[in-house]
Amino acid sequence: MKIPKYYKTGFRLLKITNTISKRILPLNILLGLTNTAFQYAGYFFLAIVIDRLIEGKYSDATFFSALLIISNLLLSLIINKLNKYATVEANLLFTDFKTRVRDKALLLSYDRLSKPGFTGEILDGEFTTEIEGGIDYLIECFKTLLSSGFSIIVAFIMSVQMLFLRGVKSPSEQIVSIILYIGIMVFLILSNMLLRKKNSINQESSVEGHERAERGVGYFSNVIYGDADALRNIKMYDMQELVWSKCRHFHEITMRYFADSYNKRKKQNLAADFCADVYIFFSVGLIFMRMLSGAITIGAFTAYYGAFTQFSKAFPKILQSDFDIKRITDYMEIFADFLDENKQDKEDMQGYESKNSTDDKCKKVIPDGDCNIEFHDVSYRYPGTDKNVLEHVNVSFSTGEKSAIVGLNGAGKTTLIGLLCGLYRPSEGYITLNGVNILEYDHDEYMKLFSCVFQDFRLFDLTVGENISCTEDYDRKRALKIINAIGLRKRIDNISGGIESDFIGEEENTDFSGGEKQKLAIGRAIFRNARFMILDEPTSALDPVSEEKVYEDFAKMTEDKTGIFISHRMSSCLLCDRIIVMKNGKVTDIGCHKDLLEKSKLYSKMWNAQAKYYVA
Ligand code: ADP
Repeated sequence: MKIPKYYKTGFRLLKITNTISKRILPLNILLGLTNTAFQYAGYFFLAIVIDRLIEGKYSDATFFSALLIISNLLLSLIINKLNKYATVEANLLFTDFKTRVRDKALLLSYDRLSKPGFTGEILDGEFTTEIEGGIDYLIECFKTLLSSGFSIIVAFIMSVQMLFLRGVKSPSEQIVSIILYIGIMVFLILSNMLLRKKNSINQESSVEGHERAERGVGYFSNVIYGDADALRNIKMYDMQELVWSKCRHFHEITMRYFADSYNKRKKQNLAADFCADVYIFFSVGLIFMRMLSGAITIGAFTAYYGAFTQFSKAFPKILQSDFDIKRITDYMEIFADFLDENKQDKEDMQGYESKNSTDDKCKKVIPDGDCNIEFHDVSYRYPGTDKNVLEHVNVSFSTGEKSAIVGLNGAGKTTLIGLLCGLYRPSEGYITLNGVNILEYDHDEYMKLFSCVFQDFRLFDLTVGENISCTEDYDRKRALKIINAIGLRKRIDNISGGIESDFIGEEENTDFSGGEKQKLAIGRAIFRNARFMILDEPTSALDPVSEEKVYEDFAKMTEDKTGIFISHRMSSCLLCDRIIVMKNGKVTDIGCHKDLLEKSKLYSKMWNAQAKYYVA
């Protein structure tokens, strides 16, 4: 029998769960079993008690009554305890599972993580689990499936026993009973299957776009309550009405979705109750017939009635759990793929190492002293796209050299830096460090060669010192020296917490301007003290005087290092030994300012476009 794909996904998720908590699965299996035992123990002892009473065996009846009470008490105590443990474990699991996803995301290679839509899919998945239920709910469904399965097996064995193994008093009555039994079962199974089908159709045809709308509601709440920059734009451009109308629109869709689901569920429940009543009615008839014919005792009547009732409850539960498992695995499959140890794991965790057959322990050590990095016919295409954004690039960067990279927007400058720093892996060609393919070095060590300030740098909700040093335990003196060098000493000294104040903290005056934030990001690069210092247009928020100073200071501070500047301010090219001109993913020219003015049309055009302002 072929196992449906959603069960395979469900089992993969359970396997992952087992690596997070060893207790949760055994606990739930035990709970499933005890729940079934609890349901049947009552019927079993009650049947004996009734029969003994009818037979006049009062002491036996008392004994079994005591057993009934004790078993009930014991089992409910056990179930209570297990439920408590299982709930605590499930809550922990929900958080641990999320943490596991985040941990893994932090280890991913950058090019996989930056693949368009990838993080969006993970976030959508997380958002849906918050609303519709996550891994804990999946386990709950499997538990229900298990206990209902047990219940059905026991009920089935009991019905077979009632129909075939009990003394045959009247063969014709037995045949009628068997036919009636088959009829009742077919009715129950078919009606439930039909209801289940209707349920899936309802689910699929439910208000379109509700997931998008739920995300939209969340997004606009964040914009309104948590994002000062967004609010400034909303006020400035009088966008309140637009934002409110979007909010209302998404809110209406979500409300319609919930109302629609509620109504459909109500109708469905009514239909299910009706079918269950019909089933019970005929079941009672069947058991009664068996009792009248003398095949079963009055006491057994109670037990069989219980078995039939349990069957009627368990069967829809199985279908519902099956439906829920399909629904949950649908949005959680992304996590199964993401966390599955065997799937792409090596590639995910250590993008660089994976392409390299060399064992981790045999990785080459980054050489001390001079470093010469060379691109050999490197082309690059972002994952999920089919166009090269870099084409056959041959360029090298040597120790102590200062280079500027210029080119129009989209020429591929930032991508080239990403490849140089080891954030991306070439699609074609290769990169060497002192003649050795960089794939052969320890990737983390290789990345330590670089300090790069990107245009879209991020400062985090950490202290100023932590933001600069990127550690908790940092050299305060050195951090302050750098703060001094980037011209922020006075500013930081004026905040009550100084270097220890939270960047987005309670202290007054921690609202840094865009230019100050850029300086802090540059300070972070200086603190890292790497051998390659790169500025990728991080100075757009600085005034021209500050910008010029930053470039000059940066050049001074990185005198003995390799410096690479990407800047639209062409005057920064004058600080460099050579300029690399890029166009449409290709390096078109390399040379000094004077040479390029003569030989590169693009460079002279870019230079002249700005030079007229300088002259003026
Ligand atoms: P520059 O720094 O010269 O402005 P980039 O290197 O940022 O150029 O971009 C080069 C090209 O790569 C552009 O066409 C851009 O749209 C594309 N690009 C940049 N990042 C991605 C990405 N993560 N996924 C797909 N395409 C990208």
